[in-house]
Amino acid sequence: MTDGLRNGPVPRESIPLVLRGWGTCIYCMNNPANTKEHIIQKTIGGFLEAWLACDKCNNEMGQATDLELKDDTNVRLAFESIKTQTPRAFNSYRKRQKYIAHSESGENPSAVFKGDALFVHWQTLEDGSSPVDASQSEKFIKTELLNSGASEAEIRDKLEEFRNAENGRLVEIAKGFGVKKLAIVRLTPVLSGKFISDHLVLKIAYNILSLLITPNNHSEYFEPIATSILNRSTIPPYVEFRQGMSNESPKPYHRFSVEKVDGAIRVAFFLFDALMYAVTFHRASLDSEISVRIVMNLKSREIYPVA
Ligand SMILES: [Zn+2]
Repeated sequence: MTDGLRNGPVPRESIPLVLRGWGTCIYCMNNPANTKEHIIQKTIGGFLEAWLACDKCNNEMGQATDLELKDDTNVRLAFESIKTQTPRAFNSYRKRQKYIAHSESGENPSAVFKGDALFVHWQTLEDGSSPVDASQSEKFIKTELLNSGASEAEIRDKLEEFRNAENGRLVEIAKGFGVKKLAIVRLTPVLSGKFISDHLVLKIAYNILSLLITPNNHSEYFEPIATSILNRSTIPPYVEFRQGMSNESPKPYHRFSVEKVDGAIRVAFFLFDALMYAVTFHRASLDSEISVRIVMNLKSREIYPVA
């Protein structure tokens, strides 16, 4: 295995997808780094990994950060706009996301994906019926009829009637309970209105930085940073944030850079090339030359340096 980014100039060829770390966890600065961290979360297709954390720290941080990224409104819009270019990555991202399902006949129930299947929520429409996506209707109706004590023959007849019904027509399944078969023609995302926290931005920047320098060798400076990421506690004042949108429209790659700027180190990452996050680590007279620019291509799962 190669050391990847940290030894000398970055190679021109593509960089391995798993990088060796520094041996010790960059978060607790104590335990062996025995688990891989996704530098940019897997949730949004970030496939580059490095041995940076111990299992304890990794467990503590894992779930929350993934969910935060999934909930971020800008991330959602960016990913939705390139989904046809990265179907594999998008397919796992869209799980748990809410949609409005627009049907041919005008009903607009909410829906979610479970695996590859679209599930329309069983809420009641204004006319008292429940909407159901044609592909999942049989299972739903069967369950409802079994619960109401229907015979096998009755269930068979009802399913037959439903199969033959036109889209948008209300079929009475049991007394006072009707189901509408919908043909979904379009989905629009329901946005959460949430945005990722400074702690997550800092975590990603810190992971990126750790590919190039050994935070453990400068523990006085980095320990408070690592602690604030782990415990979601106050971020040290010598860390500065910037955030914005580039003029670029979203593209199927993420990129990041690490540079020395005015005696500080600036780590910037651009999710989908469009959402910019920059973290400046002030007072960082750490290593002499730091300047890398890396592109993580989601389509070909390749990571390579750029000039
Ligand atoms: Zn640890």
